Amino acid sequence: MPHVRPAAPGTEGRPNTDSLIDRFGREARDLRVSITEKCSLRCTYCMPEQGLPPIARDDLLTAVEIARLVGIAVRDLGVRDIRFTGGEPLMRRDLEYIIGMSRAVISDLESRQARSPRLDHRVSLSMTTNGIGLDKRIDALVAAGLDRVNISLDTVDRDHFARLTRRDRLPAVLLGIEAARTAGLTPLKINAVLMRDTLAGASDLLAWSLNNGVHLRFIEQMPLDADERWARDNMVPAQELIDALSSRFTLTEPHRDDPSAPSEEWLVDGGPATVGIIASVTRSFCEACDRTRLTAEGTVRSCLFGDDETDLRGMLRSGASDRELADRWRAAMWTKQSGHGMSLEGFRRPARTMGAIGG
Ligand code: SAM
Repeated sequence: MPHVRPAAPGTEGRPNTDSLIDRFGREARDLRVSITEKCSLRCTYCMPEQGLPPIARDDLLTAVEIARLVGIAVRDLGVRDIRFTGGEPLMRRDLEYIIGMSRAVISDLESRQARSPRLDHRVSLSMTTNGIGLDKRIDALVAAGLDRVNISLDTVDRDHFARLTRRDRLPAVLLGIEAARTAGLTPLKINAVLMRDTLAGASDLLAWSLNNGVHLRFIEQMPLDADERWARDNMVPAQELIDALSSRFTLTEPHRDDPSAPSEEWLVDGGPATVGIIASVTRSFCEACDRTRLTAEGTVRSCLFGDDETDLRGMLRSGASDRELADRWRAAMWTKQSGHGMSLEGFRRPARTMGAIGG
């Protein structure tokens, strides 16, 4: 299990600033909030077949606790993008409430903007989801204040999807994608994990994405699978994907939309459509990382690959002030490691898997 720090880690040498800075000059403005370990799929590159060990209900952050931490992140720490994830966020019945409460806290801060000049641009609330059941909840989620969704889809071949996710749910995912488009949540990003198993269908997935007006991004598979099958020798590097897609499409002008964006965008057939490639393993972007994470149990995790976590839930429940919580969060960020070290000799995978941290 990860190492959860009960007390504030050291802040020696930290400049006196509100922002979430670390020792390597990075500043976190992007917060990932995992809200559950439960998922409706069992993707082989992520979840164990039987699902993750259940988190006791009392150990999960409540909607009110999540909204309070979101408020602290925005007001006191300078976070500007908040993305709910899991597990699968749609597995939480109170997701609309979580988003509504978080939006209310943010709107309140925005309406007092004159007194809070650090709130320089609108704070976005988004979600990463597999899309199953989204069609039934999209209107309520948008009404609650959701701005955007990223939907995960690795293949448009139904049999392949069933093998990869251990569930025959492709039609449900496609309904979710259509609902998000109809609701106007654009640009709608589709995330696919790049692996041997998905390489052969990558061109078909890109053709489907272009036809359906969604923005496809591939992400290199990381050693965060519960079954521990990831092997460096067998992983598909971004270059191999570019070569495979190039036999059907013309890919040109690789660029990043902004310097901290993990995704390198390539124009497809002259544009304007692009395909994104996130080379998290072979072209690591740790030096530009602007993320902080909250796990479903209320620990701060500064790096996907760093097992050090700092407990905020205990503080929340024992009456800590916003200021104390913000200070603890800052101290946790100050000790963030420089990078994931996947390319280094002796790299050890983290104790938690992607689904357990929140991707
Ligand atoms: N259930 C939601 C979903 O499917 O999007 C949110 C959680 S999921 C862990 C978040 C993202 O992590 C998904 O896009 C998924 O494909 C990605 N992911 C999971 N395991 C991964 C791995 N080993 N390497 C790279 N990405 C991974």
